[in-house]
Amino acid sequence: MKTNFIFVCGGVMSGIGKGVTVASTARILKDYGFRVTAVKIDPYLNVDAGTMNPTEHGEVFVTDDGMECDQDIGNYERFLGENILRDNYMTSGLVYKSVIDQERNLKYGGKCVQVIPDITNEVERRLWNVARKTDADFVLVEIGGTVGEYENLIFLETARIMKLRSYGQVIFMLVSYFPIPKMIGEMKTKPTQHAVRAMNSAGIQPDFIIARSSRPLDSIRKQKVSIFCNVAVQDVISAPDIDGSVYEIPVNFEKDNLGRRILEKTGLKSRTRKSKQWDKLIGNIRASKEPVKIGIVGKYFGSGDFTLADSYISVIEAIKHAAWSIKRKPEITWLESEQYEKNPQSVRELKNFHGIIVPGGFGKRGVEGKINAIKYVRENNIPFLGLCYGLQLSVVEFARNICKMAGAHTAEVDQKTPEPVICTMPDQLVNIKEKRMGGSMRLGAYKCKLAKHSLARKLYGKDIISERHRHRYEVNNQYRGGLEKKGLLIAGVNPQRGLVEVIELPKNKFFVATQFHPELTSRPLNPHPLFRGLLKAAAGK
Ligand code: GLN
Repeated sequence: MKTNFIFVCGGVMSGIGKGVTVASTARILKDYGFRVTAVKIDPYLNVDAGTMNPTEHGEVFVTDDGMECDQDIGNYERFLGENILRDNYMTSGLVYKSVIDQERNLKYGGKCVQVIPDITNEVERRLWNVARKTDADFVLVEIGGTVGEYENLIFLETARIMKLRSYGQVIFMLVSYFPIPKMIGEMKTKPTQHAVRAMNSAGIQPDFIIARSSRPLDSIRKQKVSIFCNVAVQDVISAPDIDGSVYEIPVNFEKDNLGRRILEKTGLKSRTRKSKQWDKLIGNIRASKEPVKIGIVGKYFGSGDFTLADSYISVIEAIKHAAWSIKRKPEITWLESEQYEKNPQSVRELKNFHGIIVPGGFGKRGVEGKINAIKYVRENNIPFLGLCYGLQLSVVEFARNICKMAGAHTAEVDQKTPEPVICTMPDQLVNIKEKRMGGSMRLGAYKCKLAKHSLARKLYGKDIISERHRHRYEVNNQYRGGLEKKGLLIAGVNPQRGLVEVIELPKNKFFVATQFHPELTSRPLNPHPLFRGLLKAAAGK
């Protein structure tokens, strides 16, 4: 069978849910019995997403094979319920770098190396590589940014050339925004008409328009979009804002027959009776009414006057998956760690929550606030899950307050600490010294052996697990004995390198922290055992 490529571009403005649109379309096609995968292309020059500040670009998602990529890969994994590998992510930086590296190795045999066709060929090569490796019937390709921008033109150009060559079937989808300005009170289609013109000038005609708006498109608007944008009226798909969760989006798209229309265009027939699993999930979500309150103590929330949740999206989704699985409605609150630094008494507000999470993080800002928060939840037996930096700072808190090592710290924040309970591995010292910071952390999936009587062992139901990492610092094994003597349980260790992966405080109701990131592998149809553990403890189950 030929591979079908579906290219998805954004119109009018960013942030309207292109990633979730791709993920939802992928889910629909998977439920029709096809093998589906999704690729994200980011037009910026960073070689990967690892060097970007999360408040600017959202969470850095990590794949099993250690690629630091855009958070949309997380959406694809959550909707598809499958792991996605590094081949499925590329940036302009990565593509240019590989072409330039090849040029330096004389791979172009003396030719002049040019943007077209050498860059477009490299993008196309990467897309076919994904098709081959995943053996997918459908490869969805999300082109970052908005049509009309300079930065993503080269990727539209690649898509146009792929359609022209037509080794596979190529479909274009435009996810566009339809504003309803307050003073007019009517949904406007003109910005989308302009977006389609911009696509047309790149030689591309969309096959589908996904109409993002606060309300569904009425038939008058659908007709108008159809005529002006040159798209069949049944291929204008309503995508209104939803009250519920993003997981309802595939269901909404199907109300407008998106899946069936894609199959018609590709000449395919559904391979199975549509699975009911997803509908069951939606039913579960809707039935979850009794609230469970979870606080996230972090620092990547603010952007000017606005609060962004994107920096912790996998953590948030993992909380939701686990809450729904026990029929509870998750109520998530952002708690600014700096506030617990400026006003240490204010940590008392944590008693208003059923559970607290200290997620991953970097650097000095807000660290003492997080440590204050951890002290408070430990002393007050509030269910707690620490993730990566959350584990490291739990160890610092325990060392300072239980082991009476007042000066204990992580070497990341205080290089001269007398008690570096968290320190770097020797290989990382070289990276730091030589400023080799991009893609050089301990990244991707590593094994962990869980201790026999640990809570983690009980929750996972097995001895050996594999989880994804993204960190440069580790628990300093020189302090292990001292910490253990005072009641800290080393609940999981990497068998190859002896690195601490999980800690627990068995005296507490639920106090678990991990060096890895369990949030990255939680799926709506398969919630993560540690998040389920936290949520169950929080819900008093
Ligand atoms: N900053 C810490 C480290 O580099 C923790 C990283 C994280 O939380 N992802 O080890």
